[in-house]
Amino acid sequence: MGKHLVLAGGGHAHMVTLQNLPQITKRGHQVTVIGPSDFHYYSGMGPGMLGGTYKPEEIRFKTRHVVEKYGCKFIREYIKKIDPQKKVVMLESGKTVSYDAVSFNVGSRVPRDILIEEGAPVFPVKPIEQLHDAKQKVTGLLASSSEKNVILSVVGGGPAACEIAGNLFQLAKRHGMKEPVIRVFAGKKLMAHFPDIIRRSAYKTLSDRGIEIIEQKYVSEIKQTAVMTDSGEAWPSDIVFLAIGVKPTPIFRKSVIETGPDGGLLVNRFLQSPQYPEIFGGGDCIYFKEKPLDKVGVYAVRENPVLFHNLLAFLEDRPLMPFDPGEEYLLIFNMGGGIGILKKKWFFYQGKGAFLLKDFIDRRFMKKFQAIE
Ligand SMILES: Cc1cc2nc3c(=O)[nH]c(=O)nc-3n(C[C@H](O)[C@H](O)[C@H](O)COP(=O)(O)OP(=O)(O)OC[C@H]3O[C@@H](n4cnc5c(N)ncnc54)[C@H](O)[C@@H]3O)c2cc1C
Repeated sequence: MGKHLVLAGGGHAHMVTLQNLPQITKRGHQVTVIGPSDFHYYSGMGPGMLGGTYKPEEIRFKTRHVVEKYGCKFIREYIKKIDPQKKVVMLESGKTVSYDAVSFNVGSRVPRDILIEEGAPVFPVKPIEQLHDAKQKVTGLLASSSEKNVILSVVGGGPAACEIAGNLFQLAKRHGMKEPVIRVFAGKKLMAHFPDIIRRSAYKTLSDRGIEIIEQKYVSEIKQTAVMTDSGEAWPSDIVFLAIGVKPTPIFRKSVIETGPDGGLLVNRFLQSPQYPEIFGGGDCIYFKEKPLDKVGVYAVRENPVLFHNLLAFLEDRPLMPFDPGEEYLLIFNMGGGIGILKKKWFFYQGKGAFLLKDFIDRRFMKKFQAIE
């Protein structure tokens, strides 16, 4: 008899499973996909959408459309938690959905560890779709303030913060608008977890454009019109971008299910919960027991074929396949203005070629999966 597979979230790690829904349903199984939006946005192109390089429709995948096209069910809702004993997922509306197997690809979120005054204009860098609203807000503000300098603050010192700052600069330039003040609050130092050569390159790319980088200070509070640092200073600000890293969704901690130290769903080498074998997961929301993985889309993408194989194999009592994270991945940061910073192992390159390569890889990824639509 057919079984019921629930795909919780339609993120990067579920793409191949979504592409192969007919392979699952033709064997008599049912599939339900649950997610808060009809679309899934490709994060690698998010900063480029902010900077105006990409339109929203170029960087998103029509999840609902594809699911329904293949005769499966799509529920547009947030998953709140899971009852692994009863094998049900609980939705925000209070509804429940039971499963024989469930796969989580619900991503990560920017923690709200910083005090934020109510009404403060803050845009966390995730979910990615919010960067489109942020773009409208920034362009509106730049267009309406002919005298006053618009001040844009980016809180965070990692790759996402650099990409956001660089693309805010590009956005203003593209529209021929009065240049805003862009200030990056980088904490201890910009790109602190990267080799010095990358750190220096990112710093120079931003500062050469007049972007201010504030180091050795931590943001303690975001008010409606200012960013406060632990040094007691108030920095006037019109819009704030929050890029202080990401944490897995709190779903698993709330569900009393085994997690890794970061709160991600603990999975073994088959991307399967060791505690509840009918629970699988991929992407930013998991903690891979064998080797903790960076929260980068590259791993979510690499997990795709293994997740698809294992979900179907589990439904049909066939052997599972182990996931191999593979060798060190290629990183390219989109610094705006057509410039990229590329890193692979010891190799480093900065310039237009790096951006063009990223653009090619990202567009190819989108083209491959948008073709299913
Ligand atoms: C600005 C920025 C730029 C980045 N650039 C790159 C890059 O160039 N290369 C790279 O490798 N990595 C990049 N990353 C990291 C990358 O975003 C993540 O590693 C990647 O998004 C992980 O994919 P995912 O599918 O696990 O999560 P997500 O992309 O976050 O997808 C999760 C999905 O689950 C859905 N969802 C969320 N909560 C729920 C819920 N409660 N119930 C149901 N559904 C839910 C969401 O709607 C979404 O569709 C970047 C990150 C940021 C913030």
